[in-house]
Amino acid sequence: MAGSIDSPGLAGARLSVLICETSRVQRRILREILEDGGFTVIEAGGSQEAFHLLRYSGCDIFITGIEVGQVNGLELCWRLKAEAETSHIHTIVMTALGQEVQVAEALDVGADDFIPKPFNPVEMKARIRAAARIVRLQRDLRGQAETDSLTGAANRRAFMQSLERAVFEADRQTQPLSLIMADLDHFKAINDTHGHATGDRVLVQCVSAMRSALASQEMLARLGGEEFGVIMPRCCREEAEQRAECLRRATESLVVENDAGDTVPVSASLGVTVLMPQEYMATPDELLSRADSALYRAKASGRNRIAFG
Ligand code: GH3
Ligand code: MG
Ligand code: MG
Repeated sequence: MAGSIDSPGLAGARLSVLICETSRVQRRILREILEDGGFTVIEAGGSQEAFHLLRYSGCDIFITGIEVGQVNGLELCWRLKAEAETSHIHTIVMTALGQEVQVAEALDVGADDFIPKPFNPVEMKARIRAAARIVRLQRDLRGQAETDSLTGAANRRAFMQSLERAVFEADRQTQPLSLIMADLDHFKAINDTHGHATGDRVLVQCVSAMRSALASQEMLARLGGEEFGVIMPRCCREEAEQRAECLRRATESLVVENDAGDTVPVSASLGVTVLMPQEYMATPDELLSRADSALYRAKASGRNRIAFG
């Protein structure tokens, strides 16, 4: 559509924009421009509200004025760029016309762009179009950096980041956290007997079957080779055991064919560990090592089984 912010070639999931501006009129004008461009708009009337929404709204772009409350827009900008969880948010600061000092300050504290106030709607649209291009590109790059290309599952890097967050949240909410490590049995023999391509098919189907056995808040990752990790927030020992058993059965029931059309038997061994709320705060590495020892015991005691650690 002519005049649309979201020009062709930028199609994809809707981006959301958080506006922090004390003037209701200015917010309404910005909202109209952004909604016309196909963005989801979230409004904050001041820095306190914006600070909360920046953390919890999942916005992609942040547009802020400078005089927006006790904490000014530049400090908001500095804070969001300093925190790993919000540093990716593309930030545009609206500066006062003719205040070059503010422009320099805004860029120095980490703003990605600025626009003089009162803003020209045509210029604002162009700035947002540029912001949307950058956000989508960065989102794609982040997705690629965190995904295993063969199976589409999260990779080890994404897993470790999520585990760190999950351990922190479990401690904060005094909730249990369960972790499973799964390793396919005799996978080298599958490759040797049926070829590498069949081995790859086993990995792909395994991920698909395991995903189907998991709940939406649970995370599956391929940690490397034929080894997988599952993070289960708010999950106690009994639930973890049930889940591990579901994963074991899902793997055992896989029907993967080799190039000749014969079915290749597949199974996995699983190590499970649970971080209990009253326990001392274990590090992600300690938890992984506990799950890994349990996995080792599951292998040693015959494979295609679960062990706790
Ligand atoms: P165990 O039951 O003790 O786990 O034995 P295993 O044969 O599964 O374990 P081992 O570590 O000896 O072999 C793992 C094999 O996985 C060796 C490696 O060539 C293979 N592998 C690793 N990544 C891939 C991959 O992406 N595709 C395929 N087809 N094979 C892979
Ligand atoms: Mg193995
Ligand atoms: Mg292995």
